[in-house]
Amino acid sequence: MDGKTGTDYTEAEMAAAQASLKLGFPRLRFPVKLEAAFSGYYFKNTLKQVRIALMTGIVLYAVFGIVDFMLLSADREHMWFIRYAVVCPVATAGLVFTYMPAFKRYAQPAIWLVMLVGSLGIVAMVHFDPAPEKNFYYTGLLLLIMAAFTFVGMRFWYALTWALATTLAYEAVAIFDRHAALTTIVHNSFCILATINIGTFSNYLMEHYRRRDFLNSILLVAEKQQLLETSDKLHQLSISDELTGLGNRRHLEYRLDQEWMRALRSRKPISLIIFDLDFFKNYNDTYGHQAGDECLRVVAEELGSMARRPGDMAARYGGEEFVLVLPETDLPDAASIAEDCRARVESLGIPHGLSPASVVTLSAGVATMVPDNRTSRSMLLQAADKGLYQAKRDGRNRITFADGTTPESPLPLPFPKHLRSSLSAPPPVSPLPPV
Ligand code: GH3
Ligand code: MG
Ligand code: MG
Repeated sequence: MDGKTGTDYTEAEMAAAQASLKLGFPRLRFPVKLEAAFSGYYFKNTLKQVRIALMTGIVLYAVFGIVDFMLLSADREHMWFIRYAVVCPVATAGLVFTYMPAFKRYAQPAIWLVMLVGSLGIVAMVHFDPAPEKNFYYTGLLLLIMAAFTFVGMRFWYALTWALATTLAYEAVAIFDRHAALTTIVHNSFCILATINIGTFSNYLMEHYRRRDFLNSILLVAEKQQLLETSDKLHQLSISDELTGLGNRRHLEYRLDQEWMRALRSRKPISLIIFDLDFFKNYNDTYGHQAGDECLRVVAEELGSMARRPGDMAARYGGEEFVLVLPETDLPDAASIAEDCRARVESLGIPHGLSPASVVTLSAGVATMVPDNRTSRSMLLQAADKGLYQAKRDGRNRITFADGTTPESPLPLPFPKHLRSSLSAPPPVSPLPPV
């Protein structure tokens, strides 16, 4: 199945990559896209190592020249020319190249080339040195082979082809120059092949482990992504109402707290509207509970669309009651929004045979406060609730504001004319009879 894995790769690609790891030699290769990503990963993870290896190589190559000088009665001109005029400058150029952007693309061939210049340099020394001690150089060759497989970050096939090219060059010089006794040459060749054998194995294992780490790192990212998504979903579930998808009461209280504190700090008004569907019990009794649920969903969608600004929030307060929190909104604006909601729900035209309007309607209570130390968010809720009860008492399908404004900062109250028909101010706040 080509399912998503939460990464840039499909399940099929990941499975093929895992399978290639299991298959092992010689198919140490991922599907194209993953292979390209692995090359990038390999490059990033070995760059530092490559630089250290090249630096160490240059220093050792140069220092071995001094050792040669002390130990061997060599043909120094050739030796030093090879060491200090060819190999060390080429390796230094390679090191400088690692700091250039193009190195990312040509890293492997570049390392391969620098290493080949190094190994051919040693083979050339074997060729040019007339002293019988020249056989010492072959140990240098062994060191270089080990370094090529384990230290310089060469990938498997590069390391192997380099080792074969180096061995061929050495064997050619050994056979044509006969720089040592036949037994020594045979012994040298055997040691070189054994070193290549061990090096190949180590290099293969290292690449295998790196590939495994690479796949694991992708899976880890995918798991993290999935965890984040799951926790996001859980969070969404915990804050939203199952039926309508609006915020639930718990979330409303949390958000109202936040907005209240913000308004307290900024000394700006905060408004709250409570809506309650009219004669909804009758609606359920007439059309059934399922139709009632559907009606709640449709109304909720309409009310939810009225929470337009970033801080606005629509929530289901419970049953057939909804709340709209409107930060930085004064009473006239909040009343205007409440009236807009009322009109929109009425114009949905959901038939309701047992309502005087013949369609589903709602009543609303609006309250606005500029928070200070003597007020609280529950006072805002209570004020809006009182407004709602008044609206019900006044005949339903209307909005009523409750002037919960703090005495020090009364809000201007002239409402737009078109609202006056459905607006009514409550009488002085006193315990209201149940509606
Ligand atoms: P009023 O105009 O005074 O608000 O009358 P009402 O009938 O709407 O008020 P009442 O509080 O008597 O009834 C509310 C009804 O809302 C009761 C219940 O059947 C219905 N209700 C509450 N929650 C749900 C719900 O989740 N789904 C459905 N279908 N109905 C619900
Ligand atoms: Mg109710
Ligand atoms: Mg009701």
